[in-house]
Amino acid sequence: MPDLQWLSLFPEEMAEEVKRRGYPAFRAKQLFSWLHKGADFDGMSNLPKDMLADLAKDTIAQPAVITHRQVSQADGTQKYLYTFPDGNAVEGVLMRYKHGLTLCISTQVGCKMGCAFCASTLDGCIRNLSAGEMLGEVLAVNRELQGEAVHNIVLMGSGEPLDNYEQVVRFLRLISHPNGLNISPRRVSLSTCGIVDKMHLLAQEKLPVTLSVSLHAPDDATRLRIMPIAKAWPMDKLMEACRAWVEMTGRRIVFEYALIDGVNSEGHQAKKLSQLLRGLQCHVNLIPLNDVKERDLKGVSRQKAEAFLKELENNHISATIRREMGSDIQGACGQLRRRVLKLPSGEGQG
Ligand code: SAH
Repeated sequence: MPDLQWLSLFPEEMAEEVKRRGYPAFRAKQLFSWLHKGADFDGMSNLPKDMLADLAKDTIAQPAVITHRQVSQADGTQKYLYTFPDGNAVEGVLMRYKHGLTLCISTQVGCKMGCAFCASTLDGCIRNLSAGEMLGEVLAVNRELQGEAVHNIVLMGSGEPLDNYEQVVRFLRLISHPNGLNISPRRVSLSTCGIVDKMHLLAQEKLPVTLSVSLHAPDDATRLRIMPIAKAWPMDKLMEACRAWVEMTGRRIVFEYALIDGVNSEGHQAKKLSQLLRGLQCHVNLIPLNDVKERDLKGVSRQKAEAFLKELENNHISATIRREMGSDIQGACGQLRRRVLKLPSGEGQG
């Protein structure tokens, strides 16, 4: 794979590289704008042919290529498999919401966090994605959309975004660049399993993204059963970081909570969760679990999910049960990749 990824560069860095190759720096502005429109070198009509031929010799314009797709008959949700030049593949999911097209992207090939319910972590983390590769995921979908464009982005595909901190922050700055996609951080949700030191760092970045925290438990004992990260960062430290986030950014936090039968979905656990979150500006997303056969984890009935929701509401905690999108195409991340790459099924998402 070429070392240089144009799409990972800020305009100033691109200008340096263009100059180093013997072309005037102003060409970088045109190059940045073409690349962020998803163009390949042969489609950049206002740049000199010799320069483009030179760039094409040892670099690539667009690192992410869509090699498989599935469309949900139920709601039009699309699932993509992206392949990178080194042969690694990750998934993305495009959902149509009232507030616009939302793309779920991956930040790593695999994941090392080891959550018991998640398919992405079954083979560990193979490698980080670069900012340019993440951007490439968005551009590849925009190229397919013809006229429409991705409006919101959620970092909820494979990988732990805060375990790839530098490249993820770079990606967030690149997509919000006015000469590029110009997607405001306000239209981005970043989901983390709770890497507390990085949550504190992110709060300082002046990037007003929506922070989602995958909580999945009301206390350490329950969380430790399903999320190894709870060992490194116990609940009191996690909640401290959440309060600091709200204070620093003025934005509410979203908690993801997948209801797992016999683990975290009982009435007393809803009560405990309410106590934990009392006074914090937040919203709880209750997620129907995608069953994980290998680990014998099962979701709960609709009725049980509603009882859990009611308990939270009675305690004045804002909460909803997340609508399932693309269930007929295994909308959950991790599954398409495993099928195409012929890995054992796993069945979870992440
Ligand atoms: N690593 C990040 C983002 C990726 S996972 C994080 O942990 O938040 C995106 C969301 O899907 C997380 O909330 C994750 O806990 C959840 N998830 C993973 N596997 C799941 C499954 N089998 N069923 C329901 N939600 C799942």
